[in-house]
Amino acid sequence: MQIVTKVAEMQDVCRKLRLNGRMLGFVPTMGALHAGHISLVRRARAECDVISASIFVNPLQFAPGEDLARYPRTFEEDCRLLEAENVDVLFAPDAAEMYPQGAVTTVSVAGVGDRLDGASRPGHFTGVATVVAKLFHVVSPQRAYFGQKDAAQLAVLRQMVRDLNFHVELVGCAIVRDPDGLALSSRNKYLSSMERARALTLHRALRQIEHMIASGERRTAQLIAGGMEILKTADEVRVDYLSIVNANTLLPVTSAEAGTLVAVAAYIGTTRLIDNLLVA
Ligand code: AMP
Repeated sequence: MQIVTKVAEMQDVCRKLRLNGRMLGFVPTMGALHAGHISLVRRARAECDVISASIFVNPLQFAPGEDLARYPRTFEEDCRLLEAENVDVLFAPDAAEMYPQGAVTTVSVAGVGDRLDGASRPGHFTGVATVVAKLFHVVSPQRAYFGQKDAAQLAVLRQMVRDLNFHVELVGCAIVRDPDGLALSSRNKYLSSMERARALTLHRALRQIEHMIASGERRTAQLIAGGMEILKTADEVRVDYLSIVNANTLLPVTSAEAGTLVAVAAYIGTTRLIDNLLVA
């Protein structure tokens, strides 16, 4: 696996990878890789001729006071994992390479970018959209793979791709969970064993809502109340949002139909976790 840290070199390497009509797949990440990330890489490997990944902890998507400084960084181990999946090229720039002094242009996705995590973390999705737009320009993949775990992010990026005419197909991949249901996240590393047990409440609340829907309840006010009952049972779980929304616009809906997004965000101690389900 080739490891590239400079934009110009990455553009050159990716241009060569795409030669002869080869399909280039791309998996952007912030590193601290786990089986969720690897599932994206495997899907890309299965569907594309050549694949690239990136590791970049993007300062632009962290607000002051968030966990940028302590975000887990496991670069050597990440490289080993990506190498084992036959990734062709890894892009791992530093912040100065991605945002040279004087860079001021950002990509802001109005509306959808201000909902769910965009409401709780103002500016977050502008940071995400800006870095993904830049990465798309550097890599020019035909397909890019993102986790359904970050459902709001996927909605924001789909809107950006449409609005800015990026010539890339976004592929959403299923959430990978631990056997007990906890969605894998690099931030799970922050949890003590007690907190990890409490974190399962997010999954339980979603399962409760799923169960209510399967039993015929479609009214979202009732479904949210049912999920909140579960979330309230756990000590030291502070709910940021539990919302039932249109998966594309992220606007609240009154009735949960097939494809509706049920999304939850909560703080377990100081760790903010998210999880979601798509109504079947
Ligand atoms: P991150 O490194 O957190 O920015 O995530 C990089 C990509 O991996 C994003 O597209 C995430 O949605 C995806 N991802 C993270 N956790 C999971 C998971 N548990 N299952 C599937 N995809 C995931």
